[in-house]
Amino acid sequence: MKRQQRKAMVSEAFEKRFGRAPTLWAQAPGRVDLMGNHTDYNEGYVLTMAIDRNTWLAVLPRDDRKIVIFSLNFEGGGEFDLNDIRHDESFPWTNYVRGVAAAFQDEGFRLHGFDGLIHSTIPFGSGLSSSAALEVVTATALKNLAANWEIDPVRFVRLCQRAENEFVGMNCGVLDQYSSTFGEAGHSLLLDCRNLTHRTASMPEDLLVVICDTRIERELTGSEYGERRAQCEEGVRRMAGFYPGITHLRDLTLEQFIEQEALLPEVVARRCRFIIEENQRVLDLARALSADERTAIRALTEGSYAGARDLYEIVSPATEHMMKAVLSGPGVVGARQAGAGFGGCTVAFVERDEVEAFTDHVGRLYFSTTKIEPEVYPVQAAPGAGLMRL
Ligand code: ADP
Ligand code: MG
Repeated sequence: MKRQQRKAMVSEAFEKRFGRAPTLWAQAPGRVDLMGNHTDYNEGYVLTMAIDRNTWLAVLPRDDRKIVIFSLNFEGGGEFDLNDIRHDESFPWTNYVRGVAAAFQDEGFRLHGFDGLIHSTIPFGSGLSSSAALEVVTATALKNLAANWEIDPVRFVRLCQRAENEFVGMNCGVLDQYSSTFGEAGHSLLLDCRNLTHRTASMPEDLLVVICDTRIERELTGSEYGERRAQCEEGVRRMAGFYPGITHLRDLTLEQFIEQEALLPEVVARRCRFIIEENQRVLDLARALSADERTAIRALTEGSYAGARDLYEIVSPATEHMMKAVLSGPGVVGARQAGAGFGGCTVAFVERDEVEAFTDHVGRLYFSTTKIEPEVYPVQAAPGAGLMRL
């Protein structure tokens, strides 16, 4: 949908619901990781990119301390009072909005009531961070309505994350909110998850990032995510016996690790090896993309996928089918599984001229083996959250 069409559609819905036009428009993008599965909680690196799929929030300030919130993507909604922010059981999606208001208010930021309508082009539950985009767009609107917040952007990111951790109850890392806030057009971000700093990395002109969504929802509330985290922690505990002072897998070089690897339980060793190698691949891919080194892009993405499958064991059968379709597609330079695994999206680097033929091929082949209609589409690196002049 074109931007103007989308605006007209949201405006019309807003006026129908609230009787007046919105006066403020905020947006926050979704994101995809180009490299770095599960490296975030190991205080490592991620190559992440904000994408041109985003969440909009159209807003009209109110005179009282109420937030009235609806979404064009989800049923329900309603109002809550800023003097008494409660968890909502009937429409759980509003808890992202409530949680953001609560997190900032608890830290002493003044909030202003508003009527708001949300519209998003990010798929939900595919690992492209629609939840973070909703948090960040809400915080962006609140920040601009109050007009006088002085806030360090990393603290802003942290408070959005807190909303999801504490109010929604999802133990996510900070990567999603960070990417949605700091994204830059035409660039990916090489994020250091220990210091929460980044530098930008450029993308080759004639390669596009193509999202290949298996349409199998991730299920991370299960035991898998916590189990992987615990295994990494166990690896660190044991390794600290040989390398005093290390606190995360980030602190180990591959050489140090290999020297003591045999002393770890076999599964723990595999998990740790994956993280340590994946960290290095993040740094290497940032370089390879900047220099447009295709052989390296291919090798690094292959390494990431193979490690996710064999060492970290987070690849589901749907993703294996997807990878088969992707790697046999025209113009593909490399591909790997994005996000936390167990379904979700595969991310491919594809020659610009071949993108149409590629999406066609992947759609057909994946459907023929799984009978599931995938979503396959190119994305561009987009700017982070902010107000829009429409
Ligand atoms: P992901 O962040 O990978 O898309 P999550 O499960 O973390 O998946 O977040 C998805 C949830 O976020 C949705 O089920 C919904 O509750 C909420 N959400 C995201 N975008 C919107 C939206 N545009 N309107 C209402 N709720 C949304
Ligand atoms: Mg999410």
